[in-house]
Amino acid sequence: MMAAGRLQAQPLLLTELPTGSLGTWADLLVEDGPPLSLQEAQAGQREGLFHKGKRPVLTYGIGARPLWVHLELLNPSAKSLPMRLVAGTAWIDRLDVFLVHDNQVSASWQTGDESPNPNGLIPAVGFTFDPHFAPGRSDLYLRVETDDVLVLPIELMSEAQAISNERLLHYGYGFIYGFLMALIAYNIMLFAGLRKRSHLYYSLYLACLILLNVAYTGHGNAWLWPDQPLLQRYVILVLMVLFGCCGLLFASRFLALAEHAPRVLNLVRLSVLLGLSLLGWCIVIGNRQGAALVAFSFLSLFALYMVLLGVLTIRHGRAAGRYFLAATLCGMLGTVSTTFAAWGWLPFTPISYHAVEFGMIIEATLLALALAYQMRQQQQASLRAEHLAGLDPLTDLHNRRAFLERAGPVWSTAVRSARPLTLILLDIDHFKQVNDQHGHEAGDRALVAISQRLSQACREGDILARWGGEEFMFLLPETDLAQASAFAERVRQSIEAQRLSVKQETVVLTASFGVAERTRQTLLEELINEADLELYKAKQSGRNRVSPARTEQLPARATPGLVVR
Ligand code: GH3
Ligand code: MG
Ligand code: MG
Repeated sequence: MMAAGRLQAQPLLLTELPTGSLGTWADLLVEDGPPLSLQEAQAGQREGLFHKGKRPVLTYGIGARPLWVHLELLNPSAKSLPMRLVAGTAWIDRLDVFLVHDNQVSASWQTGDESPNPNGLIPAVGFTFDPHFAPGRSDLYLRVETDDVLVLPIELMSEAQAISNERLLHYGYGFIYGFLMALIAYNIMLFAGLRKRSHLYYSLYLACLILLNVAYTGHGNAWLWPDQPLLQRYVILVLMVLFGCCGLLFASRFLALAEHAPRVLNLVRLSVLLGLSLLGWCIVIGNRQGAALVAFSFLSLFALYMVLLGVLTIRHGRAAGRYFLAATLCGMLGTVSTTFAAWGWLPFTPISYHAVEFGMIIEATLLALALAYQMRQQQQASLRAEHLAGLDPLTDLHNRRAFLERAGPVWSTAVRSARPLTLILLDIDHFKQVNDQHGHEAGDRALVAISQRLSQACREGDILARWGGEEFMFLLPETDLAQASAFAERVRQSIEAQRLSVKQETVVLTASFGVAERTRQTLLEELINEADLELYKAKQSGRNRVSPARTEQLPARATPGLVVR
């Protein structure tokens, strides 16, 4: 018969083994009846019932029938060759390996994650066996059975090569777990400090990612839950669904779906509930294949959701979606590469096969950056809001609240170091008339123009604020009463000299000033009251003048009030 023609014509030379998985060198037989014994499989091989493998890594779907794999090997040397056989993913339920030499079974192994303490399981590597190949031809038969997705890489290598591969894998996983755990710890600390739930959900998502990886690489079975076949039966599937749930939880929060897409959020919640219930139901009735189907469908749906949620958030004009989408796509690209490498659509290399883990690292990093970016945005927004809360919207000067906030420390410093400090309160004269004669809008423009003058007059360290409607306040550190009065006088003149054009008319405004210096007062409020009193005096004595506390008033220089020329 012809089925295994190439292998029979050309057995695999143990001294010139190709690197990577040997799927294309293998003959395969899918069991479609009761389990075959080795002898029956051998008979099938002789009768040509086996067919040639088409892909380096043998992959079948969920609930595939048990599979027989045959490899014909030739040891051209004169002595026995010790080799390392690495087969399978760590989640295979049952794996039987037979080495046949001279029509005799020279060695056999039985293992799989259904057995307690599985034989030859090396986490991240797979199931490993150490056959010795006698000189001449040998036949290797493997029988694989699993309810989950059947993925079977098969590699043969020298012991030295095996050790070097293993070392690389272990360092690689050490790096991946270390990196992800550092991210988890950091985000938990951020959550503890900032109380922002997206950090907590992100940590949960990463924790599920690590646990899922630990479960499917066999680290869990080897280290964390050995001797627990029942747990091992479902742990990967449960973690797949939990990983998806935590991912969606994080995405919903991070993308603020509640704010801009509440209906989509409900849909996400419904899907999560459905996934969890279906999985729970399958576990309760003991349907492992059903559970696997639910878990894989849920994860596919999850991937689709993540992309769609990212796109939706971008379309709603939110920057968070961009980082999120980029991160998700990186993760997905990794998964696609690994899947394609397993299917033989991409060259099977350590990088293409482990791309899912590289993708994972990049995705986690981008999401962490996205969280940091979001934190910065919120910080800036709150700084902006705080700044705006202290500004008068019309004149852009400090408002009363911001004035008092800033004046407090200046006051304390002056008191502590017994330095001069003065306060000037000024009020525009007859301002009501501007509004009455030219309209409120013209009044507004006049207020803005005067504010600009006042700002220009300020020195560094002075505090200027719009105290009320047409009242302004200066706080001048390191300035005594005489200096402040002279300053007020200059400002008074400058206002008086200003020509405001309103509807083809020129309006001249004047202002009255009350000046007070800190002497015996213990509170800033007292100084303000004093300046207010002086302002009142200035108004009483004819306006357009400066009234300094306890000194002679400076004479008025012009006709007070509103002048229309
Ligand atoms: P006095 O010389 O006694 O200070 O006379 P006055 O008219 O300036 O004083 P009064 O307190 O009677 O009126 C203040 C006016 O300032 C009344 C109010 O409409 C006007 N005003 C207060 N805030 C604003 C504002 O933001 N825009 C405009 N256009 N007018 C304002
Ligand atoms: Mg006034
Ligand atoms: Mg007033």
